[in-house]
Amino acid sequence: LYKLTLRPPERELAGRVAVITGGASGIGRATAYRLAQEGAHVVILDINREGAEAVAADLVSRYGEGRGMAVPCDVTDEAQVAEAFRRTVLAYGGVDIVINNAGIAHSAPVTETSTADWDRLYHVLVRGYFLVAREAFRIWKAQGIGGSMVIVASKNALVAGKNTAAYSSAKAAEVHLARCLAEEGGEIGVRVNVVCPDAVIRGSSIWDTRWREERARTYGIAPEQLEEYYRQRTTLKVNVYPEDVAEAILFFASDRSAKTTGGILTVDGGVPAA
Ligand code: NAD
Repeated sequence: LYKLTLRPPERELAGRVAVITGGASGIGRATAYRLAQEGAHVVILDINREGAEAVAADLVSRYGEGRGMAVPCDVTDEAQVAEAFRRTVLAYGGVDIVINNAGIAHSAPVTETSTADWDRLYHVLVRGYFLVAREAFRIWKAQGIGGSMVIVASKNALVAGKNTAAYSSAKAAEVHLARCLAEEGGEIGVRVNVVCPDAVIRGSSIWDTRWREERARTYGIAPEQLEEYYRQRTTLKVNVYPEDVAEAILFFASDRSAKTTGGILTVDGGVPAA
C-alpha cells in the first residue's frame, strides 16, 4: 500500500515571511489576515500608509510581535519597491511568499477611454507587477531557498468583457507575465501561480468607486442591482467576497500547491463566458 505523507498539525506558514502589495484593503487585506492566521509574518506594501499601518497594527495585536509590518510603497516606483524589499529582508532575513495584488479598476467603452486612463492602468497593473516580481526574483536568486509568488489577476483576464478593454488586457498581461515567470522560477525553486476572481462584492474599495456605476451602465441596470446581477449570472448563485479569494491565494502561497506552477485558479462562482 502506498504510504501517504500526512500534513503536520501545526499552522502551515509558521515562520514564513509574506509580502502583500495592496494589503491595506479588499483582497490584499483579507489575505494578510488569512496568511497571518496560518503563522506568517506579513509585510504590507501599500500606497495607503494609514490603511497599511492599521492592518499591520491589528495583526500584531492579534498574533504577536513581528507578525505585521507596514511599508508605504507605490508599486510603480522602482526605488520604493527596492527599498520596501530591502526593509523586509532587514527585518526578517528573507522573503518566502509574495502576493502581487495592488491594483486599480476601470470600466468604460473604448471610445471613452482616455490615453491617461490607459497608461495609468498599465502603469499600476503591468509595470507595478513587474517591478515587484523583479525585486522578489532578485532576492530569491540570492537566497537560493525558493519561494512562492501569487499573481492576483482577474476573471477579466480570461474572458472578454464589454467596456473593459484597458483593464482586461492589462490583467491578461499579468497572466502571461506569471506564466513566463513560472518558467524562469523553476530552476530556482520559485513557483508562480495566478488567482482570477470575478467581481468582488463589498470589502473592496473598487466597489465604492465610479467603476460600479460604469458596470451597472454596461449591463443596463441600476448600481443597487449589481450585486444581485453578479450573483444570478454565476452557476452557484453566489457573490464573491475578499475572504473567498484569500483562500485561493493561501492555496498557492503554501506548500498545499507544492507541485503546481504556472497554474490558474478562478474564484468566480462558476461564471459561464459572458
Ligand atoms: P482595493 O481597492 O480594495 O485594494 C487595492 C489596494 O491596492 C488598496 O489598498 C490601494 O491603496 C492599493 N494600491 C493601489 N495602487 C497602488 C500602488 N500604485 N502602489 C501600492 N498600492 C496600491 O481592491 P481589490 O478589489 O482588493 O483589488 C485587489 C486586486 O484584485 C487588484 O489587482 C484588482 O484588479 C484585482 N481584482 C479585483 C476584483 C474586484 O472586483 N474587486 C476582481 C478581480 C480582480
